[in-house]
Amino acid sequence: MQGKQPYRKNPKKYGTSRRSVLKKTFNQEQLIFSTPISDDPVVAIIGGGMSGLTCALNLKKRGIKSTVFDTGVHGLGGRMGTRVLEPQPLVFDHAAQYFTVSDSRFAELVDGWLDKGLVRQWEGPIGDLEVGGHFTPIPSSSPRYIGVNGMRPLADSILSQTCMVNVARPCWISKLEAYNGMWYLSENGKPQGQFDAIVIAHNGKCANRLLATSGLPLIAKQMKRLELSSVWALLAAFEDPIPIPGNTATTSFEGAFVKGVDALSWMGNNTKKLFPSQSSGPHCWTFFSTAAYGKRNKVPQENIPNATAERVKEAMIEGVEIALGLSKGSLQRPFCTRVQLWGAALPTNTPGVPFIFDPQGRAGICGDWLLGSSLEAAALSGMDLANHIADYLRSGGASPDEFAVGLHNEFQPIEGHDIGQFPGTETKKQLTEALAYST
Ligand SMILES: Cc1cc2nc3c(=O)[nH]c(=O)nc-3n(C[C@H](O)[C@H](O)[C@H](O)COP(=O)(O)OP(=O)(O)OC[C@H]3O[C@@H](n4cnc5c(N)ncnc54)[C@H](O)[C@@H]3O)c2cc1C
Repeated sequence: MQGKQPYRKNPKKYGTSRRSVLKKTFNQEQLIFSTPISDDPVVAIIGGGMSGLTCALNLKKRGIKSTVFDTGVHGLGGRMGTRVLEPQPLVFDHAAQYFTVSDSRFAELVDGWLDKGLVRQWEGPIGDLEVGGHFTPIPSSSPRYIGVNGMRPLADSILSQTCMVNVARPCWISKLEAYNGMWYLSENGKPQGQFDAIVIAHNGKCANRLLATSGLPLIAKQMKRLELSSVWALLAAFEDPIPIPGNTATTSFEGAFVKGVDALSWMGNNTKKLFPSQSSGPHCWTFFSTAAYGKRNKVPQENIPNATAERVKEAMIEGVEIALGLSKGSLQRPFCTRVQLWGAALPTNTPGVPFIFDPQGRAGICGDWLLGSSLEAAALSGMDLANHIADYLRSGGASPDEFAVGLHNEFQPIEGHDIGQFPGTETKKQLTEALAYST
């Protein structure tokens, strides 16, 4: 099947209820491209988060052109988000807080960013914070990295000076259609170009809808099996420093995984992290809820009722007081706050393959969830998919079955911290237990 003529003037309107998406996902016919692959192929990458960006970068290394489409109005990055509130400005990393490195290929990429001054190490103390203000530092076994001016500026710089990658932003790809051996992409009926292969570098509801009528039933089914947590983020700016118990060199933390508080799983001091030499306020903190709290208090993230936002803010501030061992209502009021729901925050299951690729449909998926739930997982997934697509396109597509990856893998649960999985975040106690177990 080669698909129908794309860009119909009066496209059929499809419903987007869960039942209708499911029905279309499971009933669609598989596309089989049989036309020869161009000598100078171009790949469309839908999603400009870490996985989509590293996919584009690695396709370029293999001499293949691509276009990255991303919905971001303020910049690329997806869950590498940095929010700047004017006029002061107040700066917050409002999703990924920092990242660690364990794989040599990711290390090579990060070394390049270090050389260009895009990232640096975050050496401020982080650790586990238990109810009442009991802080246990995490031994710094592996370095922690941050974007020098936040995560989003890093994302925006990853593709700079990369001549073979075109970036289209803000652009929300709403339809994929195959015709005459090519993929045609469009945004609400507006054509966005034709491509030899496509990469889905995003997940969640949006990806399910896009794939439900794509002619890629195997890819669509795998995407539908993915389960994602929801996490509330509270960005809060305080005039004065928050009273950290004990306040010594080791207990005055800059970031903490909070234990035993329903509404709080993480607190991070953006001001100390991003501007360590700044001696006076304001003090900008990012707080995340637990996934359990996010699930119980889920609302449509594009349309958060004011009453819900207010309730969540109060619950999270109270959570900060409980975590720090302060009496209720004693924490100074932040002078500026923003509440946001990450409705598709972190994967809770994974097929455990670096990427998924359907050679018959010339389509692949990359993203953090294929390998874990961190920036490193997302980067490795993007890199590996790029290399696989390059091998496939260069092979001329003669033996497609040899290139199929992850189309039928079972999913396993992912374990880890509420805000992601990083090597080196085990506390001393956990490390000791792990060592005792292995001897
Ligand atoms: C609250 C929170 C805290 C986290 N903390 C950390 C941390 O400290 N360290 C860490 O390593 N990881 C952390 N993570 C995880 C990390 O952010 C993710 O693993 C990583 O950013 C995922 O990258 P990705 O490319 O897979 O997806 P995303 O970053 O989600 O990128 C997908 C992109 O696709 C775009 N998109 C979606 N649909 C379309 C469409 N139809 N057309 C065009 N574009 C589209 C989206 O707008 C988005 O920009 C955290 C995540 C959350 C939510």
